[in-house]
Order: sequence, then C-alpha cells, then structure tokens
Amino acid sequence: PRPRDVQLNELVDEVVNLCQQRARYATVKINTELDPQLPQVHASPTEMQQVIMNLINNSLDAIDGRGGVVEVKTSTKDDYVVLEVADNGPGIPEAYLPRIFDPFFTTKPVGKGTGLGLSICYGIITKMGGKISVSSAIEMGTTFHIRIPIHG
Ligand code: ADP
Ligand code: MG
Repeated sequence: PRPRDVQLNELVDEVVNLCQQRARYATVKINTELDPQLPQVHASPTEMQQVIMNLINNSLDAIDGRGGVVEVKTSTKDDYVVLEVADNGPGIPEAYLPRIFDPFFTTKPVGKGTGLGLSICYGIITKMGGKISVSSAIEMGTTFHIRIPIHG
C-alpha cells in the first residue's frame, strides 16, 4: 500500500457510503462534517480507508440495535489533519481503555470480533507519524481522535 497525497474527505465519503447499508439496518445515522479546506496528507489510501472503516464498524457494533448516531469529522489543527469518529453508544469501561489497542483484545463473542481492528489502526497511524487516542464515557459514547502530520 504505497503512500501518496490523499484527500481524507474523499476517503471518508467513500467509506461512509460503503457503511450506509449496514448503518440503516442497525438504525444508526452516520453524519459527516468535513472541513472543505482540509489539506492533503501523505498516506496510503487503502490503509486510511481501513482505519476509517474499522472505527465506523466498531461504532456500529457498539450501537447495534439501540439506534444512534455516528459522527465523522475532519478538521485542521496546527500542523495536523484531525479525523474524529464519535458515537453515542454504550461507551468503553475505564478498565478496558488501556487494552483496546492491544492485538486480540475484544469484548465481542467468538466469531464476532478478532480484536485486531484497533491494533491495526494504531499501527497504520503511528507508522505515518500520527497519533490515535480515545475518550469514552459510559452510556454517553466514544470518540476516537486521530492526528496526522500534514507534511510527511
Ligand atoms: P473487535 O472489534 O474485533 O472487538 P477492535 O480492536 O476493533 O476489535 O476493538 C477492541 C474492543 O474495543 C472492542 O471489542 C470493544 O470492546 C472496544 N471498542 C472499540 N470501539 C468501540 C466503540 N466505538 N464503542 C464501544 N466499545 C468499543
Ligand atoms: Mg473492530
């Protein structure tokens, strides 16, 4: 997966479209708020799609059957492009937070989750000099926050 100059907004739109059918089925609304001035970043488009897809799918898994909203946002902060995926799902218990990026950590039943999604996201983002973090509150929801340096 070769890096090139990519417009994250386009990748978000593509992935959101791919997720819409599952979202409708799960009675979840996916909203986007994309910064029209967002600069391009140097990244592998397929890897970035994988990151966005993993985060949205985790939100859909978390909300599933309860109805809810997933917000995907892009913005610029200092020398970074920021991507946020927020949901109003059940949240992540504090005791789990230090482990969610570990390979094979999952709270899903056997066959439903491999526990690899977030560790793959972590690997992709850190490899490109970026950062991924989470904030979550029980019964309020979960937000994943990604920063990618604009210049290499
Ligand atoms: P998997 O989805 O296969 O379980 P991940 O690495 O994608 O593996 O996620 C690890 C765990 O983090 C999940 O099993 C779940 O407990 C928790 N998690 C991730 N995203 C969310 C979210 N949006 N809401 C609630 N829990 C989440
Ligand atoms: Mg997952």
